[in-house]
Amino acid sequence: MTRRKIIIEPDTILRKTSEDLEKVDNELRGLMDDMLETMYAAPGIGLAAVQIGVLKRLIVIDISKEKEKKNPLFLINPEIIFKSKNTSVYEEGCLSLPGYFAEIERPAECKIKYIGYDGKKKEMTASGLLATCIQHEVDHLNGKLFIDYLSKLKKDMIIKKLVKHKKELNKIIL
Ligand SMILES: [Zn+2]
Repeated sequence: MTRRKIIIEPDTILRKTSEDLEKVDNELRGLMDDMLETMYAAPGIGLAAVQIGVLKRLIVIDISKEKEKKNPLFLINPEIIFKSKNTSVYEEGCLSLPGYFAEIERPAECKIKYIGYDGKKKEMTASGLLATCIQHEVDHLNGKLFIDYLSKLKKDMIIKKLVKHKKELNKIIL
């Protein structure tokens, strides 16, 4: 397993739509293992392939708590087939927007169909944190970030600060 570099906003790749995967093979499983290691190291509870620069519809999630046994979830070509009318609010962060958090309202439950690590078609109903996490990651596959739900003013301010942060990072590297 290799740890990959996480792409930070603003970056045009984060705004692109990811493509469906054709087949599940060992190469793809290797990529998913890399994504999981990258996510655990960050640390984060969800990561979409686009965040490491791969425009494929691929997500890894693990919402297990620190002391619990790891419980990774691999979602290939996930599709949300139901969203509840009732909503919930979580304070969301994102590995591509380091240091920024905002309360985002989303459907409290969702149902998805997807292909698993074993290449088999599956369905799952999620609620609570998992439902929010899935919707956040599926948004990534469609080029959407959680700051898109905020007012233009708030969003522009966060992007401006991230641009500054990136410039400072480059200065140190150079
Ligand atoms: Zn994210």
